[in-house]
Amino acid sequence: MTSSLAHTTRPTGDTKRPFSDRHIGPRATDIEEMLEELGYDSLEALSNAAVPESIQIDGLDFHSGHSEVAVLSELRDIAAKNTTRKQMIGQGYYDTITPAVIRRNLVENPAWYTAYTPYQPEISQGRLEALLNFQQVIQDLTGLDIANASLLDEATAVAEAVLLMRRAVKKGTTVVLDSELHPQTIAVVRARARAMDFRVAVADLSAGLIGEDIFGIVCAQPGTTGAIRTFAEAVDGAHDRGALVTFAADLLALTLLKDPASQGADIAVGSAQRFGVPLFFGGPHAGFMAVKSGLQRQLPGRIVGVSKDAQGKPAYRLALQTREQHIRRQKATSNICTAQALLANVASMYAVYHGPVGLTRIASRVHRLAQAFAAAIDTAPGAEVVTREFFDTVAIRVVNSETARLVADAAGFNIRVIDPTTIGVSFGESHTVTDANALLAALGVTARIETDDFKAAAAGTFGPNTVPEPQFDSALHRTTEFLTHPVFNSHGSETSMMRYLRTLADRDLALDRTMIPLGSCTMKLNAAAEMEAITWPEFANIHPFAPTEQTLGWRELIFRLESALAEITGYDRVSLQPNAGSQGELAGLLAIRSYHVANGEPERTVCLIPQSAHGTNAASAVLAGLQVQVVGTAEDGSVDMADLEAKIEKNGDRLAAIMITYPSTHGVFEPQVREVCDRVHAAGGQVYVDGANLNAMVGLAKPGEFGGDVSHLNLHKTFCIPHGGGGPGVGPVAVRAHLAPYLPGDATSAELVANAEDANNLPISGSMFGSAGVLPISFAYLELMGAEGLREASRVALLGANYIASKLGDIFPPLYSGQNGLVAHETILDLRDMTAKTGVTAEDVAKRLIDYGFHAPTLSFPVPGTLMVEPTESEDKSELDRFIEAMRSIHAEIEAIGTDYSYEESPLAAAPHPATVVMDDWDAKYTREQAVFPVSGLRQTKYFPPVSRIDGAYGDRNLVCSCPPPEAFEENSAADENEDD
Ligand SMILES: *Cc1c(COP(=O)(O)O)cnc(C)c1O
Repeated sequence: MTSSLAHTTRPTGDTKRPFSDRHIGPRATDIEEMLEELGYDSLEALSNAAVPESIQIDGLDFHSGHSEVAVLSELRDIAAKNTTRKQMIGQGYYDTITPAVIRRNLVENPAWYTAYTPYQPEISQGRLEALLNFQQVIQDLTGLDIANASLLDEATAVAEAVLLMRRAVKKGTTVVLDSELHPQTIAVVRARARAMDFRVAVADLSAGLIGEDIFGIVCAQPGTTGAIRTFAEAVDGAHDRGALVTFAADLLALTLLKDPASQGADIAVGSAQRFGVPLFFGGPHAGFMAVKSGLQRQLPGRIVGVSKDAQGKPAYRLALQTREQHIRRQKATSNICTAQALLANVASMYAVYHGPVGLTRIASRVHRLAQAFAAAIDTAPGAEVVTREFFDTVAIRVVNSETARLVADAAGFNIRVIDPTTIGVSFGESHTVTDANALLAALGVTARIETDDFKAAAAGTFGPNTVPEPQFDSALHRTTEFLTHPVFNSHGSETSMMRYLRTLADRDLALDRTMIPLGSCTMKLNAAAEMEAITWPEFANIHPFAPTEQTLGWRELIFRLESALAEITGYDRVSLQPNAGSQGELAGLLAIRSYHVANGEPERTVCLIPQSAHGTNAASAVLAGLQVQVVGTAEDGSVDMADLEAKIEKNGDRLAAIMITYPSTHGVFEPQVREVCDRVHAAGGQVYVDGANLNAMVGLAKPGEFGGDVSHLNLHKTFCIPHGGGGPGVGPVAVRAHLAPYLPGDATSAELVANAEDANNLPISGSMFGSAGVLPISFAYLELMGAEGLREASRVALLGANYIASKLGDIFPPLYSGQNGLVAHETILDLRDMTAKTGVTAEDVAKRLIDYGFHAPTLSFPVPGTLMVEPTESEDKSELDRFIEAMRSIHAEIEAIGTDYSYEESPLAAAPHPATVVMDDWDAKYTREQAVFPVSGLRQTKYFPPVSRIDGAYGDRNLVCSCPPPEAFEENSAADENEDD
């Protein structure tokens, strides 16, 4: 073993073994064998051959990695610098209790958190059911017809609703926002409005609606100060003008409150955070959106529906419009790709566990505690309750808000300063009478709340609903039932809940069972030690608007992570605010746009995007107010230089930027990348490097040094945040110094709220650090790996992809390769010849892989009819070999077409094979054994998909997007087969 092969890092901690040796799959001897296959004698030699010399760097200026014990102890020290308080600030983020059964069996369970977005529905039935339940919760509580399976946070959900209204109404220049929306929501909408050139007016919509040329209004029910008001006049006024109505709502309040649809809403949005998701210093939390029927085609994000499988049995899948971004690109309804699936599933399971009765009891208790608190305040001289009509938030006029805040703080409570003489106190699930009384005492109020009044409401969940009438306007009381479906009334015991979570998880394939070789997705290890800290109370229970002195630990962690990412990327500044890659793109493009405007070149609005780019690129450019022009692809898959030249020439002073992905979405290091950057710069444009593929480059090359002005990274790809079945994500935006003034700002800063029209630092999400709660994962990864570990990880990622390309090249040739015939961290297997000869499609191969126990590679992106394989450094050689064996075995099955069976009779056309099909009468041209045990390793460990192939063409119009009655799954569905329109 030579030193260049061995793990060169030695830890500074207390174990002899560097963590990188745990993170990286192949052992030293495996690496030697793999290198031998490729004809290189060291990892360094391989990466030198693959990465163009013109962009290579010497290495990272970084520590050498610490042990797991040392990093966890360091994280403990950082966590200790945060101060936990009883959080009563509210403003969109509320105290809640994550049931331990959900924390342990879902949040901390790799079967749930390591899953990918359910694009392959046959291996995703469990989490699709959980997401469908989430949609049902949203539909029932909002009274609207169809909900999506989560958005990024409340502020962006409102922004998406505003854009939806604008698209659907197609006339009018102005949206009117209720002045009772959270300030961060107003700031985020204003930022979007600036980029897309429409007007925002802010008014008290409970007083009616004035003005014309309006495409939509957004009412806050309840408002940011807690007030519950009626909007009938404004709603009618909007509808009379042909405009649409959105309600920003609170799910817990809606258990007591008349649903938004009954109040006239066409759309409802909000955050599902208080359904069991910790505060997490601002995120990740699931935003939600529901619309009335007729608007579903406009709905952004992913939608789960009930379709049917090849046997005609009901089965879940995502609606086709989920893929819309890749097809419609700049015409897509939204740029949202990764959303908040894991958090939506937590909220969904919180509703399953508590049921309608339990939820109502929690809400009623919170409401009555707030009412009792207000009644006690009434008795105090010098304090006045602002309104009686509220759910959980009491706004109180005081002599001096800051003084009140300080005494509350000293007693262990965070309350909100609404203005210099108004405070807000928001109650949540865990708050008790004792808490309320302690806060009253701290505020100098002598009255106390009687404990006995609250005893009855604590009992039971699935019994009769016997909560007292709410104390707000009786015209706004909920009178309709919700969550009547059996799933919300069956799992009230912990045993039942635990088994339901296990049953669903067992239907799915996640990283805990198999490699997920999805190209462009980087499904690498999410190490247990990296996950450890996120549920510690000192991180999880911090309110995003807690005073700075209570969040010093968070701020240190964030600052250090930003600095490390700046070193890795070669940029000067990094913002962690964007909560998905798509949002990082938007932030980066807005920075470019603002930069041109500030330089007196507002006409620079054209964004060049290569044909092969990820669908989010074009969609984000539109949201940033840019016009997309496509640059062609040359024969070898790289950017067509002649076309680039022509487009630069043609656009002249209108060129704003080029958006390239590096290494390219074709999985190669394009050698002329510097030249592309230079040409664009020479023409006055900026260079956006989509850094979602950074896993090929960490420690080997830096986009900020080879010509990028701005990049986003995906921490949920390269930096180990688990994919969660479709989120959470973190999409930091990294910029060179000249763009730093335009990084996203704090949506709650007084300056930004007052001056949104001219501010440079437009906020991208509602809280300053977006999905802060999961940042300890990436922080831990960098601390554990160190400079050498990171570089070695990149090199092994290159090794794995090239090993697969080499081992499969004779049967499935790699479509593109770069210098020395090498690919980067992923490889596109070209199946189109085979399809032409045999009829077997890339999709057939993807589905047949399920029978071999694998999650499919990326299907038909970026090139239709191909599979893109990204193994990552975490997969050991035996798993790579198992995949290679499966692909070779599938190839042999394809070869047998025309001799043993026709295409239609082949195991490929029928794949995947659930147990029910194999146990049925069998008259196939291949044996049952061939169907389910095509390679011998499957005899011991076999995954059976719960359904057979799900009909992708079965039209969206036939999808039922709410919980079906359970009997639907016992009979054959008789729905007719309309094609999607
Ligand atoms: C994943 C990906 C994105 C989008 O990231 P999200 O977090 O899903 O929004 C953008 N570009 C590329 C190249 C990607 O692979």
